Amino acid sequence: MLSPSARFSALALLAIVAPATIVAALGYVSIRQWEASSELLYREQARDMATMAAEKVEMTLRRAEDDFLDRLQAALRAERSPGRAIDAVLAGSPLVRRLYLVGARGELLYPRAWKESDAAIFGPLVSEPAQRKLERGGQRVVIAENQICRALLTGRGGEAVVVAFLRDGDTLRREILATTLGALESPTIIAVLDREGRTVYSRAPIGDAPRVLSVQFRDALPDWQLAVYQTPGASPRQAVRRQVMFFTGALGALVAVIVAGSVATWRLMRRETEMARLKSDFVANVSHDLKTPLSVIRMFGETLEMGRVTDEGRRQEYYRVITREGERLTRLIDNVLDFSRIEGGRQTYRMTPTSVEPLVRGTLETFAYPLAQQGFKVEVSVAPDLPEVAMDADAVGQALANLIDNAIKYSADDRALTVDARVVDGRLVIAVTDRGLGIAPEEQAKIFEKFYRVGRSDTQGRRGSGVGLALVRHIAEAHGGDVTVESAPGEGSRFSLRLPLGRS
Ligand code: ADP
Repeated sequence: MLSPSARFSALALLAIVAPATIVAALGYVSIRQWEASSELLYREQARDMATMAAEKVEMTLRRAEDDFLDRLQAALRAERSPGRAIDAVLAGSPLVRRLYLVGARGELLYPRAWKESDAAIFGPLVSEPAQRKLERGGQRVVIAENQICRALLTGRGGEAVVVAFLRDGDTLRREILATTLGALESPTIIAVLDREGRTVYSRAPIGDAPRVLSVQFRDALPDWQLAVYQTPGASPRQAVRRQVMFFTGALGALVAVIVAGSVATWRLMRRETEMARLKSDFVANVSHDLKTPLSVIRMFGETLEMGRVTDEGRRQEYYRVITREGERLTRLIDNVLDFSRIEGGRQTYRMTPTSVEPLVRGTLETFAYPLAQQGFKVEVSVAPDLPEVAMDADAVGQALANLIDNAIKYSADDRALTVDARVVDGRLVIAVTDRGLGIAPEEQAKIFEKFYRVGRSDTQGRRGSGVGLALVRHIAEAHGGDVTVESAPGEGSRFSLRLPLGRS
């Protein structure tokens, strides 16, 4: 069953974890949706932009070619032999690289002769059937393959004149594509690809930028495409990616914090539960520890009171038992009271220069009776000429008594107790050694915690309150020292109380 505070922690934890989890889940779902919709939007925008750009290119190109044809038509109408005028029109039209004018019967009107292998290429395009097709279609400019355009004009006498010209690639790139596409305000890379997919023009180096989409040009540039590429780092898609990564990171951090917090709270709850158990054990243990000496005192007291013990020697023995049990009771109550003072932060220590030897021998003296009665082999060794040490003599005496009490309590058949005091590395070390039950390595750090007791089977049912060593440690630390243990199960233990020598 959980203690009230542990229950409160569990509820608080739930109150944090549940909303945080919902927020994290909602956040994740919404950034995924956002990512999907913004990508869709980006593609739509890119498509609109590409279509518009392609239309603009075609319009510009048409206008330039219409303009050229207008001027050509004017030249044809004006002159009987328009050769020179046509030369002039041609000179003013860099977009036109080669120009041929053919009469209705297929005779070459301009220039005088076919250049190089042009007759083979242009010939079929201006032949009679081609002419009729042109007339029927009524189209002014028709694009054949390889950037050759055809148109139908009229001569001075109203006769049909077929015009065929080849576009100049460089001028097309420079004056039509570059001026039209270069002026577009868009962070993307736009390129024009010919029918073989070769790049004719691109606004910026494409490198290995991925292609977003491409749209086909219409009549003015058949089979050519306008392609849009994603600029590295600058595309909205990558911006969204970055945002998504940022949010995912933040969500991850949130989840990590929640998990860490939950684990910490769970640990705290477990500690509290454990502490609650230890506390209730403590009450039972102390009560039991008080009861034993009290019942002994009562029993011996009553026996003496009844006057049944006539033998003086036995009477003396009974008095000693009563005194010893009284001392045990005092020690126990002192421990509990001191412990509660320490817990409440009310414990104070009065430091006075103290001789070590009388303190050690005096404390041991109070155990003379149980030591003798239980047949302990006792050894005391106090280094000669120990200096006086500043300490609260009562407190240090109490700590030493607790260590001796434990040594007696946790001894089995091999009953031996050694107390030695010496200076080691500039510190006073008072060590209590026994050859008793010993302590398993994994327990050695825990035994100094309040209420902690090693399991019943290991201590063979010996009673205790679990505050003795906690008190020893507190006293040691209050003096600027510490307490350590060396122990092996079945071999015995050595507890060392180490105190600074102080300035005196
Ligand atoms: P307790 O009242 O249980 O003796 P302590 O705080 O004095 O409480 O000791 C804590 C635990 O440490 C004991 O329950 C015991 O298991 C172990 N312990 C202490 N001293 C010794 C010792 N000299 N030999 C073996 N075990 C010891």
